[in-house]
Amino acid sequence: MNFIILTLFPDMISSLFGNGVLKRAINKGDISVIPINIRDFAEGKHKITDDRPYGGGCGMVMKPEPIAAAISSAKREFPKAHTILLTPQGRIFNQQAARDLLRHETLILICGRYEGVDERIREEWVNDEVSIGDYILTGGEPAALVIVDAVARLIPGTLGGESSAEEDSFSDGLLEYPHYTRPRSFEGAKVPNVLISGDHEKIREWRRKSSLMQTLLKRPELLDSSSLTGEDIDFFKKLHLRIEDVVQKIRD
Ligand code: SAM
Repeated sequence: MNFIILTLFPDMISSLFGNGVLKRAINKGDISVIPINIRDFAEGKHKITDDRPYGGGCGMVMKPEPIAAAISSAKREFPKAHTILLTPQGRIFNQQAARDLLRHETLILICGRYEGVDERIREEWVNDEVSIGDYILTGGEPAALVIVDAVARLIPGTLGGESSAEEDSFSDGLLEYPHYTRPRSFEGAKVPNVLISGDHEKIREWRRKSSLMQTLLKRPELLDSSSLTGEDIDFFKKLHLRIEDVVQKIRD
């Protein structure tokens, strides 16, 4: 999968890919991350990429021509690319959105700066608008990095044997169970016995129940849209809890 990142600060992008899982994915050829400097597509001696807003007001607006030229150039090489504008006004990015983006072979991610990009780019040049949350960043680069990281780790083979995306929080609509490693006792707190029992069925059951409890206690609203098994429902029944009641309580 190719991630093309249009930015005024290409150096910010390289920082994420020098280590760990994503570096290995790049070396293996599973992903390519291509930062493109929007300034390279600006005309004139001064390569200006922003200008004052029509109608007045403070702040600068990113000019449409260099961004459009950068998108066109990327599309010549990757004609089927899906073009995303990073903006706080976009649809909120989450695990499901990351999974949906996997179907595209190439993503072009446009990072805004200042007051944002000229509206005509949003209207005519992009397929999608994505926000990473209801807060305002200085620029779209951290948002682009969040998206590349979350999508790339879902590509089969990227994580290697050491970790599995299927068991992560949100992958089946629930939060993940807690993890422990050595030592067995840390400042008096012990690892749950079941995890050192060697009984794989009991460990599976414990993890599932812990996952249900974590979700119930920390993010109960997720239970509304997660796919619970008969065994899960029985577990809640034993706790004298009906999912409908939990969900209703949250809504109230
Ligand atoms: N004036 C804009 C507004 O109120 O909607 C905010 C501009 S922000 C300071 C500059 C750039 O950062 C945006 O163009 C966008 O690319 C990026 N950005 C800021 N917050 C973001 C968010 N929550 N998700 C994605 N991108 C964001």
